[in-house]
Amino acid sequence: MEKVLVPSPPLSGPGGAPSAHEPAAAAGFTIAFCLEGQLRLDDQPALHEAVALARRQPGSRLVVLATRPEDQRLRGPHQRRIEAQALASLRSRLASWGIPLLAFPQQTTAAALDEIRPLLAPDRLFQAQQSRLFGDWPVAPERFPLVFSDFRRNLERSPEAPLPPPDFTGLGWTGADWPEAWPREWLQSPDPAPVADPQADPYRDPQSDRRSAFPFRGDEPTALARLQHFCGGSDGLRHYKARRNGLVGTEFSSKLSPFLAVGSLSVRRIWQEILRYQAIHGADEGSEWLKQELLWREFFLWSEQRHGAAFHGASGLQNRQPAWIENRELFERWCRADGGHPLIDAQLRELLATGYLSNRGRQWVASHFINSLQLPWIWGARFFEWWLIDAEPALNTGNWAYLAGVGSDPRSFGGSPRRFDLERQVGLYDPGQTHRQRWS
Ligand SMILES: Cc1cc2nc3c(=O)[nH]c(=O)nc-3n(C[C@H](O)[C@H](O)[C@H](O)COP(=O)(O)OP(=O)(O)OC[C@H]3O[C@@H](n4cnc5c(N)ncnc54)[C@H](O)[C@@H]3O)c2cc1C
Repeated sequence: MEKVLVPSPPLSGPGGAPSAHEPAAAAGFTIAFCLEGQLRLDDQPALHEAVALARRQPGSRLVVLATRPEDQRLRGPHQRRIEAQALASLRSRLASWGIPLLAFPQQTTAAALDEIRPLLAPDRLFQAQQSRLFGDWPVAPERFPLVFSDFRRNLERSPEAPLPPPDFTGLGWTGADWPEAWPREWLQSPDPAPVADPQADPYRDPQSDRRSAFPFRGDEPTALARLQHFCGGSDGLRHYKARRNGLVGTEFSSKLSPFLAVGSLSVRRIWQEILRYQAIHGADEGSEWLKQELLWREFFLWSEQRHGAAFHGASGLQNRQPAWIENRELFERWCRADGGHPLIDAQLRELLATGYLSNRGRQWVASHFINSLQLPWIWGARFFEWWLIDAEPALNTGNWAYLAGVGSDPRSFGGSPRRFDLERQVGLYDPGQTHRQRWS
């Protein structure tokens, strides 16, 4: 049976200090904060604005609506699983301040407001923004470059520092003003409560495949713990450049992408942790390389915003139609990880079972799909977008279009897409065939 977490006034503050929770006025001023797919309390500038308004307006109370952004496509099963975990965690943390989280993860803010209006009409509304390093165009739209190296060289601003979670003390609801009539489904936890096993690792997802390279839960405490582990509690960041082409295990790369995709981690928090690491150890190769990868993420997000629909179109930013064959039967076999190429099938089996694939594996699969099978790259991109646990349309399309030779690969302008020699790649990155055996 699913657990219903009904917020109640806390007995003590979140840090264990005596609670300063004060009952909000019965007919109080209600401020709604809409998550827009950003499932965290850390580094939420609009949430700080909401709390600041509440402090100026006596008797204010806060309600949080878990909504999706207007342009978000349907999430696949792996991403929905970690999204549910992130939501359940947020709900229980907000409940300790008496703040309700009403869940409409498949609805836009406008649709959710329509649904709640008969029972709750917020006086003010604030909306979260997708986590990015830059609060505004890092390169002006009219000068926005087509390739990453120009983007990186011409950055016109610096990444911004993250904000800590706000103090919610006194902004919750009391038992007395709690609306009895709120439907249970608004308050239902989408994630079954984890089995209470004191031996169990609280950050591990008991539902994940035991072979997974991302066996973690998707919630914010897990995201922050993983960040600390990678940047401080292990030598992961120091050796990031040397290891990032790995294929097996949890340590070859940061594994922060699923948290970024469901918004349970702020990219500015990652950047700040890297700077903190560099203040102690110096700007080594590993930490500089991770900064560069985070800039790749920015490049694709802002590029998508700059080019709109053309960014996701089959002819891409270069506006040229790649040659392909619409072989549906071959595509269906490929989708079942039964295309007949053992290396590629092993990668696809991992994707289907876990939702995660290494960066190297993604490149191999996409390159083989485009160059050897000659299937339409947008079919492959859509398939990835459904199955990836870290699916972010801008990053996914940006990488597929790059490999298809219609996007931002500088070598492909006027030339053909880059092609991976799979036998050579396996010799370099999986000489013992560990990955293939694991996923055979
Ligand atoms: C065909 C293809 C599709 C992809 N689809 C996605 C996707 O939907 N979502 C996604 O997050 N990444 C995508 N990537 C990029 C990359 O593979 C993943 O970000 C990375 O493997 C995630 O694991 P990590 O967090 O451990 O990566 P790390 O190597 O630790 O990188 C840290 C972060 O840097 C960013 N990053 C790293 N590589 C890239 C890249 N090539 N492009 C843009 N940002 C990057 C990501 O935010 C990542 O979380 C795709 C790559 C390819 C080749």
